[in-house]
Order: sequence, then C-alpha cells, then structure tokens
Amino acid sequence: MKKPICGLCSGKRVSFYKYENAYKILKCESCNVKFLPQEELNKINLKTLYSKKYFKTKNKIGYENYLNAEKIHRRNFQRIIKKVLKKRLNKTTKVCLDFGCAHGFLLDELRKKNITATGIEISKTARLYAKKKLKLEVYEKIQDLGNRRNVYDAIFLIGVVEHLKLPKEIFTRLLKLMKHEGTLCITTLDCEGVFPFFSYKPPEHTFYFSHSNLIKILLRCGFSKISYKTLWVEYSVFDIVFRIFHYFNLKNHIKILAPIQKAFSELTLKIPTNEIILFAEKYDHR
Ligand SMILES: [Zn+2]
Repeated sequence: MKKPICGLCSGKRVSFYKYENAYKILKCESCNVKFLPQEELNKINLKTLYSKKYFKTKNKIGYENYLNAEKIHRRNFQRIIKKVLKKRLNKTTKVCLDFGCAHGFLLDELRKKNITATGIEISKTARLYAKKKLKLEVYEKIQDLGNRRNVYDAIFLIGVVEHLKLPKEIFTRLLKLMKHEGTLCITTLDCEGVFPFFSYKPPEHTFYFSHSNLIKILLRCGFSKISYKTLWVEYSVFDIVFRIFHYFNLKNHIKILAPIQKAFSELTLKIPTNEIILFAEKYDHR
C-alpha cells in the first residue's frame, strides 16, 4: 500500500492516531493536523451524508433540528457579518460568496444589507430550501461558478473547512475567486485552543485543524494578513445539554431531554467555544 502523506501540508511523517466510528484517523507529525487518509475519504458519499436527516436527527452526526434554530443561526451569522464588515471598514463590500451555505440564512442576512451574495452547498435538501424558499443564487459545487475570477469582496467558510475532503484545493480556488484586498472569513474548531474539548466525528468531520496549521496552509496557498480569535456563539440551552449528553455518551438517557426542550426552547446563552474565527486577505502582487 502507498505510504500516506498529510492531506494538508503533504508532509511525509504521518502516524496512526485512532479509530473512530470505524474510520481511521491519522496525525501529521509536521503540522499536527488530524485527518482522514484518502482511502477513508473515498468511503464517504457527501450527497448521502448531507441528506435531509443530517439537519434533523437524534444521532451524534448532524443537527438536532437545524431549521427550528433558524433565529439563533441568523443571530450568529449577523454577528459574523458585522465582524467581517468591521474588518473591511475602508473597503467596499458588495459581492460575497458563502461556501457551504446550508439553507442560506447567512446569504439572506447579507442580502438585507444590499450585498449580492452567492452560495455553494452540496446538500440537496439545504440547497433547494435556499433556492426555492429564499430565492437565493446557490450552486452545488465550486466548479459551477465557471471561470469567475477576482469577483468576491468577502468569502465565508462558516463551520465548513472541517467537513472538506480537499481543503487546500478549495483554499486555492477561493483565492482566485476573490478580489484584490478581499477578505476570507473562516470559523472552525481549534484543536490547540483554550477549550480543547471536542469529539472526533468522522465521516462528518474529516480535518481537525488548529490555528497554527490553518494559518500555515493559508499562507502557503497565497493568503496574507491572517488574524484570529475565539468565537463566541449563541446556543440554545437545549442544544448545549444535547451536546453534553453526547460527549459523555449518555444517549440512552436522551428521552429525559424532551421536557427540558419544551421548557427551555427559547432560552439561549452566548458562550465562548472551542472554535476560532479567522480572517485572511488577498493581496495581488502588482
Ligand atoms: Zn501536515
């Protein structure tokens, strides 16, 4: 069998890390990323994985009920948009791309600010919702954007990079799509962050980044002026309890959550997470 190389930095010093959900996870000794090797990625059918039940499930993989939490998602996206616009204070922001836009709530929030926004979404159920219900421009794959170049002022990758099969290739494509002085905004789990509590969940998550290896790969792909900070996210109290139950493997007790969900359905908390929000810019050498 071919010796595996790092799916991120192409480094050759790669070791076995662990098995999870019957998937093999490797660790790169050079950049420290944990990732699924090619033969494991080949097993994953993204279209099946992100079917309707991904967005409404009692399983560990996916969302308890994505659409029910629409208001919360929108408020979190509004906060992220505000941060990006603040970063771009002296630059105009008219045309944006949301890669992995799900049902299109971030795109819709951008549209409310008179920003033209296009989305990419592999999940058919989420994409059709964005297109039909919200009347947004959403494509299935990045290739569907054709030969667009230097088009977008800002590109969003919100909770997406950890799901990708080929993150480096996507970063390179996004750089080309972005205008000179464009801003890339990424949120993802930071495995070397202040709160390193997270679960390995292949096939949903394929790459487990840290701020340091994410910065390194973005620089290598041609981005510059990179900065990041801890992301504060608004969660429903029920969702927090739901995640804690799964973290401690208490899924047999999940029945008792129903009354909690009923009582606290509207209650939310803004908490610091193990995720970071990272900004990177594009500067053409002119
Ligand atoms: Zn590596």
